[in-house]
Amino acid sequence: MPLYEYRCKKCDKSFEILQKSNESAVCPECGGKSMEKLFSVFASGGSSEASSSGGVPPSSPGCSSGGCGCAG
Ligand SMILES: [Zn+2]
Repeated sequence: MPLYEYRCKKCDKSFEILQKSNESAVCPECGGKSMEKLFSVFASGGSSEASSSGGVPPSSPGCSSGGCGCAG
């Protein structure tokens, strides 16, 4: 049975409540049903790999006339 953390919007208190199926959480403090589900436990997973391979030819700075002395 999953254990969720709820916070009551009425009395602003958080509780860990066993969430049963087809049953709304009720605040054990004030009995209110306006409970906000908190996500206290995060399951962090997954990796993102970014690979970029471009077929762009290297552009050489243009000195086509050979005025600067490079091998042109
Ligand atoms: Zn409450």
